[in-house]
Amino acid sequence: MAETERFERTHPHAAARHAAGSGALLGGVPMPWMMRWAGGFPIIATHAKDARLWDTDGHEYVDFCLGDTGAMTGHAPDAVIAAATERLAEGTTLMLPTEDADVVGAELARRFNLPRWQITLSATDANRAALRMARHLTGRDKVLCFSYSYHGGVDETFAVADGRGATVAREGSIGPPVDVALTTRAVEFNDVEGVRAALAHGDVACVIAEPAMTNMGIILPEPGFHEQLRALTREAGTLLVIDETHTLSAGPRGATALYGLEPDMLTIGKAIAGGVPAGAVGITEALARQLLADPSADVQDTGGIGGTLAGNALSLAAMRAALTEVLTADGFARATAAGDRLRAGVEHAIESFGLPWHAVQLGCRVEYRFTATPPANGSASRASADEDLERFMHLHALNRGVLVTPFHNMLLASPVTTTADADEHTQVFEEALKDLFG
Ligand code: PMP
Repeated sequence: MAETERFERTHPHAAARHAAGSGALLGGVPMPWMMRWAGGFPIIATHAKDARLWDTDGHEYVDFCLGDTGAMTGHAPDAVIAAATERLAEGTTLMLPTEDADVVGAELARRFNLPRWQITLSATDANRAALRMARHLTGRDKVLCFSYSYHGGVDETFAVADGRGATVAREGSIGPPVDVALTTRAVEFNDVEGVRAALAHGDVACVIAEPAMTNMGIILPEPGFHEQLRALTREAGTLLVIDETHTLSAGPRGATALYGLEPDMLTIGKAIAGGVPAGAVGITEALARQLLADPSADVQDTGGIGGTLAGNALSLAAMRAALTEVLTADGFARATAAGDRLRAGVEHAIESFGLPWHAVQLGCRVEYRFTATPPANGSASRASADEDLERFMHLHALNRGVLVTPFHNMLLASPVTTTADADEHTQVFEEALKDLFG
């Protein structure tokens, strides 16, 4: 295929590294998803700043992957560099709070309307902590998740509804600790009756949900879905955990504010420390009190929640800078303007080629999918995926200096992504459609 040849020819350094074998790294990469880039092997990054990234083959890219949201602030924001550099020189792993911790806690409480926070190293950690707390607080075993949602490496959530009322392991799930049907009830997103039926068993500790699904394209909630979800969970004594890790794209207070959600717990990670690992879980006052007062919960040591490096002073310094100086209302206004431009460009191109495709936007996050209308749930979205076409679009863009996230077709804008950057994507997107359908 011409695009693959072009990629190999114009990336001789990355190709030589790949041809030399995978070296000491499993699959040739430090973490598995780096194997997924279109082209058969990854480019080797040298550095990244704002919405740009450079590789060892001398190419410059406009980056709409942005670390799959980890760099939603833009790469290497000056405020985070300054705060983190200073903190590095002052000690980072202290096993003690710093003054930054109080500022971060207060800022998270203000944004998400939950008064008590714990800091984690990642969104995965935040979700694992939330599920453990929910099971402890309710005395129930099961978690309800939505089919083909993704919440990080969280055992309970690699589960899908099989369409016949059973919960089964998501295909490809590696080494689940127990049969996922023992831990989880999986339901389709936007399926109120499915939620009702699953909660009726009375054994669901919590529902874990993104406000809009973002890992199978963007699947928006149907009108009334969240109101029903909240009413049903309250009725059933089931806690509601909202995962804002990706949907923070909606604005400074995330999609929780956009949709007026009232979660019992909220988890977040990725972008909130501007590129430094960090996550957080927020909880209501009543639940926090219940947990802290429970003599059977070892919240201080080996209760099963934590991590020695979690809440480290570097994460907190970076989080303070990212939240108060980068991911601000102004920052989101600029990012969303770039998101508007990206979506409009993609929609215009789709329209002018008369394609049965569509685009969905959630603030500074945009997805295009190869169906005329947006799928309503994870299974429908998965069934509509076209991996070959996806990889063609991604590689075509990569070959022209535009990075699209290697999963589905996600384009993310940051506060420093410009409308000119967005237009660069539109131009290569149009070119791809011309090559395919012109
Ligand atoms: N929540 C959501 C919605 C995610 O998409 C992800 C990762 N893509 C996570 C949590 C986990 O984040 P991390 O891998 O950084 O722990």
